[in-house]
This record gives sequence, C-alpha cells and structure tokens, in this order.
Amino acid sequence: MKLLFIGPQGSGKGTQAAIMSKQLNIPHISIGDLFRNAEEELKEELDEYMEQGKLVPDELTLKILKKRIFQPDCKRGFILDGFPRNLNQASLFKTITDIDKVIEITLSDQEAIKRLSGRVSCEKCNESYNIFTEPKPKNPLHCDLCGGKLVRRTDDNERAIKKRLEIYHNETEPILKEYQDILIKINGEQNIDKITKDILNSLK
Ligand code: AMP
Repeated sequence: MKLLFIGPQGSGKGTQAAIMSKQLNIPHISIGDLFRNAEEELKEELDEYMEQGKLVPDELTLKILKKRIFQPDCKRGFILDGFPRNLNQASLFKTITDIDKVIEITLSDQEAIKRLSGRVSCEKCNESYNIFTEPKPKNPLHCDLCGGKLVRRTDDNERAIKKRLEIYHNETEPILKEYQDILIKINGEQNIDKITKDILNSLK
C-alpha cells in the first residue's frame, strides 16, 4: 500500500505516519529526514534551503525521493510524510509512481498555533513534548527521561508559524483536489489513539 500523509504543521501527521508504518509494516519516509540525513555532497545545498525555511527545489526533491522509494524495502509500499508540498511536485510524482490513498489530517489554524507554540524538545536526547497538549513533560523546563533542558524550535515562534501555515494553505492544500478520488479526511483535533483508529478504519 502506498500512502501519502498530508496536513498542516502540528497536525500530528509525522506521529501518525510512524505509528501506521509499524501497524502496516511498510517504511515511513519523512522527506525532511531524508534531507537532514542526505549524503555529504548534497548536504550543504539542502541545509541552505532548510535553514531559511524555504522549499528545496522540486527537481532535487524528486531526485532524492526517487532514490529512496525504489529501494527494496518499499516493494510492498510506503508512507510518505511531507511530500508533495505543491502542485508541481504532485504532478512530477505522478510520472514516477501511483498512490493508493491520501490521508489528510485536518486541524484549525488556532489549534495548530497552540500546538506548535507548546512544542518543546530535549536539548540532550531530542525527546519531544508539548507543554499545552500531550505528551506533557512532568516539569515544563526539563526532560522526563534524562533531565536535559527543554527548548523550542527557532521556527516555532508565532510569526514563523503563521507564515508556515500560510504556505500550507496556499501551496499544499490545492494538491488535495488532485487526489479527491482517493482522499480520506481525518479529524486531527482528537487524541493520538482515536486518530490512529480512524485511519485504520478508513483503510479497511
Ligand atoms: P520538515 O521536517 O517536514 O519540517 O521539513 C524540513 C525542511 O525540509 C522544510 O523546511 C523544507 O526546507 C524541506 N522540505 C520538506 N519537505 C519538502 C518538500 N516536499 N519539498 C521541498 N522541500 C521540502
């Protein structure tokens, strides 16, 4: 099964993609992670785009993605998280492979802003928490696991969050029309377990 997970920042699509990957036994491919772990010769170029919060050019994104989805572990399918992010990527992708279902996880801007403003992670071990929603740290300043300092991502300030949501609405949301025949809408304003259940039910 080949699945795409699409949703605004804070919708929990990465979390759900990771859970579904275990449930369905197919790899979870996060395009952001592919870029962060790219080979040395590409790293410098990719980091420049990512540090500015800009999208990596479509052709380069497709080249890196293509290499990954044709590896043997993707034979039974994959879950793509973070791709496509605009119409051009969606149409280029169509020339490479077909897709079975697109899972859209919906979330209001108000809730996205709240979730992203509360998002923190441990400076030492990278464990993620949210000071407003689950999983909450026992102490808002320190990691439950190792006691390290909890910090926010530099792009999780209100201004940058609004900008990222604007890009989602303007560039990513129009893609959904392209997939309307295979689109499944899931309410992202529920707890993690309920969202997982809804996704599993919708795939039956
Ligand atoms: P993420 O981990 O999904 O927040 O992505 C981190 C960064 O990777 C983004 O800010 C972009 O610079 C880049 N990126 C992620 N997905 C894409 C994509 N589909 N197309 C181009 N650039 C992307």
